[in-house]
Amino acid sequence: MDNTQIWQAVLGEIELNLSKASFTTWFKNTFISSFNDDGTVIICTPTNFAKSWIEKKFNKNIYTALQNTTNQKIKAIFYEVQKQPKNEKKESSVSSILKTIKRKRNNIANTEINSQGNFGTNNKYGLNKKYTFSNFIAGKGNELAHAAAQAVTRNIGKAYNPLFIYGGVGLGKTHLLQAIGNEVIRDHKVLYTTSENFTNNYIYSVQNGKGKDFKNFYRNVDVLLIDDIQFMGGKDGTQEEFFHTFNELKQANKQIILTSDKPPKSIPAMEKRLTSRFECGMVANITQPDDETKIAILEEKLREKNYSLNKEILQFLSHNINNNIRELEGALNRIIAFHELNNSTPSMRSVKNILNDILTDLQTKTVTNTDIINTVSKFFDVSVKDIKSKGRQKELVWPRQIAIYLMKKELGTSYPTIGKELGGRDHTTAMHGYSKIEKSLAENQQTNNEIESIKQMLIL
Ligand code: ADP
Ligand code: MG
Repeated sequence: MDNTQIWQAVLGEIELNLSKASFTTWFKNTFISSFNDDGTVIICTPTNFAKSWIEKKFNKNIYTALQNTTNQKIKAIFYEVQKQPKNEKKESSVSSILKTIKRKRNNIANTEINSQGNFGTNNKYGLNKKYTFSNFIAGKGNELAHAAAQAVTRNIGKAYNPLFIYGGVGLGKTHLLQAIGNEVIRDHKVLYTTSENFTNNYIYSVQNGKGKDFKNFYRNVDVLLIDDIQFMGGKDGTQEEFFHTFNELKQANKQIILTSDKPPKSIPAMEKRLTSRFECGMVANITQPDDETKIAILEEKLREKNYSLNKEILQFLSHNINNNIRELEGALNRIIAFHELNNSTPSMRSVKNILNDILTDLQTKTVTNTDIINTVSKFFDVSVKDIKSKGRQKELVWPRQIAIYLMKKELGTSYPTIGKELGGRDHTTAMHGYSKIEKSLAENQQTNNEIESIKQMLIL
């Protein structure tokens, strides 16, 4: 098979789990630019936007699909923005150095994927020593979660059970969860896992008649840490099994700690008996840190890396990088790597230069009703005119209802105004549309994906 055929096969698998609109949005004009014998693959996307989305959301799927298609161990996947195959654009020294850095970083990320084998082959406790309480900065945004996490370590199974930590990506949930594990590992049997891993292991155990081993593995612990529990949404069999695991551990006063990107009740397609159990201990939210906390975090990371940056640069970074801490750290790593490779000292000018592309990505723009309608039109490939028309075909009604939902939910636009924006409809139509999507979101992962994709298109 050549690269094009391999990629076609991979896309064929990915397409199965996505709506047509999502699939086209993310995977149009993507291709494999190189597939090395050692199992390293470079995948190119036409825009930065598609790259970051695919990297974030589909890396695992691509990894599995590549492996299945080629029957070869995939060592690492790199993503690059490149418009056409064999586009021999000259690279500036900055971008070529940044590419080297990126390769190194991706390599690290992929080792983590490789080590997530089936249960039994897991690294012993799933813990990563680098995440501890001593290098976690408590500050605005995470104070409650941090305090609750510490309380739990002092009183396993008794303080808050379960402890449920939720918040947006890159805000420190995994760090806190792991810190708890590392803190109590000396005196307790600890197991850290992701809900995806739990799910995979469950399926594996069912398929291979290893139900008993599975139960032993997860129930024979003092502290069970499950990361990103939201991914158990919609997986009914796994939820059933987890329900029993949960009850058994809880009854035996074993400690359960969960993280999620949403509060329990808002996790799509999660059974009520589970969400109500998630709520019965302590639910702690992590929100965006303020500039002061961000500076303290940067200083901590600098200390770990034995590097220093002046106050002005730290303030600049903390003020301008607003999405999350992972991004802040990513920026810091780039700055350090660039100057180390270049053997130079960071200045405001060099820092601004390096961060140029991140910063334009992050420049948040104010979204309007019109932006939403335009983006929905682009996403579903129907014209704005048709969305606003009286047409009742399914292909128009769905995008229209999605637009209604987003205008209400994201901008708080009133129903009468939404009606007006959409070609002079009655406010009851807008209300109906909103509840249609809300209902579908609770039942259908594909709707969630669509909404999320459109939201991403709006922000970036
Ligand atoms: P999440 O699981 O919420 O997506 P992570 O726990 O992976 O986020 O955090 C992303 C990065 O930010 C990690 O490298 C983590 O060490 C760092 N980080 C987040 N919050 C803090 C904090 N309060 N102090 C120090 N580092 C933090
Ligand atoms: Mg995490």
